[in-house]
Amino acid sequence: MANGRAFRYDGAVPPGEKRHFRYEVSETYLGDPVEVPVTIINGKHDGPRVFCTAAVHGDELNGVKVCQELAAKYDPAQLHGTLVVIHVVNVPGYHAQQRYIPIYDQDLNRSFPGKATSNTAERMANEIFETFIKQCDYGLDFHTSTRNRTTIYHVRADTANPEVDRLARAFGANVILSGGGDEGSLRAAATAAGVPTVTIEMGKAHRFQPVLIEKALDGVESVLAEFGVLPNATVQWPGWWRVVDPTDQKAWLRADTGGLVDMKWGPYPLVREGETICTITDHFKREEHVVAAPFTGLLVGVLENPLALPGHPLCHLVSLDEATAEEIGTEIENGEFDGYRANGTVWRAGQEQD
Ligand SMILES: [Zn+2]
Repeated sequence: MANGRAFRYDGAVPPGEKRHFRYEVSETYLGDPVEVPVTIINGKHDGPRVFCTAAVHGDELNGVKVCQELAAKYDPAQLHGTLVVIHVVNVPGYHAQQRYIPIYDQDLNRSFPGKATSNTAERMANEIFETFIKQCDYGLDFHTSTRNRTTIYHVRADTANPEVDRLARAFGANVILSGGGDEGSLRAAATAAGVPTVTIEMGKAHRFQPVLIEKALDGVESVLAEFGVLPNATVQWPGWWRVVDPTDQKAWLRADTGGLVDMKWGPYPLVREGETICTITDHFKREEHVVAAPFTGLLVGVLENPLALPGHPLCHLVSLDEATAEEIGTEIENGEFDGYRANGTVWRAGQEQD
């Protein structure tokens, strides 16, 4: 196997070296640097470069923990290639524990690949994209649901692109939502620039959810195995998976009335056609609206804040064919879904205490 290459930014990490450093992407009002924490683990041997990014939305923390663990876990002597870890991409949002870049509420995940002469978000995006992302061969961008909601552990990927599809499958999640991604998202911009990238959606904002974090670490290892970065590791194919196509039947079920939401589904995210997902009652408990599943499916996302307005999204349901539903039913009986156990509105990840 060929010897590795140096990874260059404004410095250089030679092959066989791991380096933790901060990289300036902007300035504060006081003129102090805004710096992203970066770890480069440059393998002794040459091979693909894989980036992992977290907190592009500043309050989405599960991925931050994944990055911390990844940066500690691997040694350059093991790697045939390079792991590029950007622990926190949206540093101002992270400081404020907000999704967007504060003050002007710019969404960093609609600002890629960015532009050196544009607004704050685009400049930051541009620095990160030009310096780190473009040199990579594959990318994994970690997200969670928006606050007050939670999401099942899944991958979002443009599976029409064969290399993206290979990456998405190698990550080994059970559910892949297929689609190109929003314009300006890191995933879409990196993929368009020839760096196949997927988004991993896991759980909720403002939390560390250990079961999901463990799964994601296994997923990264599986990707590194698939692309030869860890030649001795094995790819972890899941027992079943469901690729949800944009043309598939899926729905955000929305409230038609204002009121108090009582989630009735669970403890597992498989619901049968006609099953009650939740009820909405008025404050005097005179009226109750039942929200039932319009088809058999998997609850991919659910509301956690128990108040609803007309038009408010309650849950995201994707349809399952009978064979997959049966398979999931068996997995549930075998305890495979215990990591997603839910109790009313709480989608519990194993040992997580809410
Ligand atoms: Zn996000």
